[in-house]
Amino acid sequence: MNLMLLGAPGAGKGTQAVELAKLLGIPQVSTGDIFRANIKGNTELGKLASSYISKGMLVPDEVTFDIVKDRLLQDDCKNGVILDGFPRTIAQADMLDKFFAEIGRKLDYVVNIVVDDAAVVARLSRRRICPDCKQSFHLDFAPPAGEKCTNCGGTVVQRPDDVEEVIMQRLQEYHKQTAPLVEYYKEKGILVDSESVNDIEQALQNTKNAIGV
Ligand code: ADP
Ligand code: ZN
Repeated sequence: MNLMLLGAPGAGKGTQAVELAKLLGIPQVSTGDIFRANIKGNTELGKLASSYISKGMLVPDEVTFDIVKDRLLQDDCKNGVILDGFPRTIAQADMLDKFFAEIGRKLDYVVNIVVDDAAVVARLSRRRICPDCKQSFHLDFAPPAGEKCTNCGGTVVQRPDDVEEVIMQRLQEYHKQTAPLVEYYKEKGILVDSESVNDIEQALQNTKNAIGV
């Protein structure tokens, strides 16, 4: 199954993608994670990506598509993938569509994870992540153990783009560039909605129900 998770920053795409990957036995492909790994490794791609991400802007389409394409051609993706954070613009969606057609694949479902802006700000401004295992925490709703990840013991950090000013910019980018994908995939007949309630288990269940797993 080829699945894509669509939604505003803070909708819970990453959290749900990790669980769905385990459940379905297919890898999560997160452009955000790939960019962050490159920023950490100080690669050329990382330097470029960082100049956009730190301002809450999207990385250019061609750059983003190239890394996704390379990833999709790797062996572990041959039985399916969970795309998390890609595509994020109509241009990216068109590129993916064309590429999938070329290799004889298609997106089965696009899960539109629905959340309102106020919830996004409340979630992201108090979010912490484990850089080692990618687990997300929330200081009030799902706190880490002090500074430590309850999953792997790593030291949790705040993403530099999880500060209010950058969060507002990311939301604007979402509404302007990414939200039009809802209509785009609705027209293709593969869009399903999943309400991102604050209870993580329930939010995940909503997605499972939407795709029938
Ligand atoms: P979130 O969904 O919480 O914003 P991500 O980890 O998916 O977090 O993305 C972090 C940042 O990486 C985005 O704000 C953007 O700058 C960049 N990015 C991720 N995916 C894409 C993409 N498909 N196209 C362009 N930029 C992207
Ligand atoms: Zn961890």
